[in-house]
Amino acid sequence: MSDCIFCKIIKGEVPNYIVYEDKSILAFLDIFPHAKGHTVVVPKRHIDTYFDLSDDEMNKLSAGIKKAMEKIQAVLKPDGFNVGWNQSPAGGQVVPHLHIHIMPRYEGDGGGSMHSIVNNPGDVKVGEVAKLF
Ligand code: AMP
Ligand code: ZN
Repeated sequence: MSDCIFCKIIKGEVPNYIVYEDKSILAFLDIFPHAKGHTVVVPKRHIDTYFDLSDDEMNKLSAGIKKAMEKIQAVLKPDGFNVGWNQSPAGGQVVPHLHIHIMPRYEGDGGGSMHSIVNNPGDVKVGEVAKLF
């Protein structure tokens, strides 16, 4: 998509710091890092969300995430990782080109876990929610 910042990065029109690249994905350093080595992994095809991935693209993205994590592990030697994505504005997605955040974690970095993203389960019991499935 011509006005998409990540498509411009993929095309080489906007400078970036590559962590890992293959035919299907590009992993590059986030320009406003929340951790040392904060990386975003994008499929080269412009799609908005995870729902738009084909199974083949999903497998290639997953493999690319692992390669990028291995590279970060070898170079920066973090103590752990959080890996995930913000989906849709309610989930905090700002750039509408699917991207997976890799957050290297370091002992004592002051960060939280996935559980710190939201803590607002509503007043419906888990058993009631389960019935909806
Ligand atoms: P999200 O809220 O999941 O859409 O996050 C978008 C991420 O893209 C943010 O962490 C931004 O810092 C990052 N970002 C935006 N523009 C660039 C850029 N030109 N190069 C690298 N990262 C970027
Ligand atoms: Zn795009």
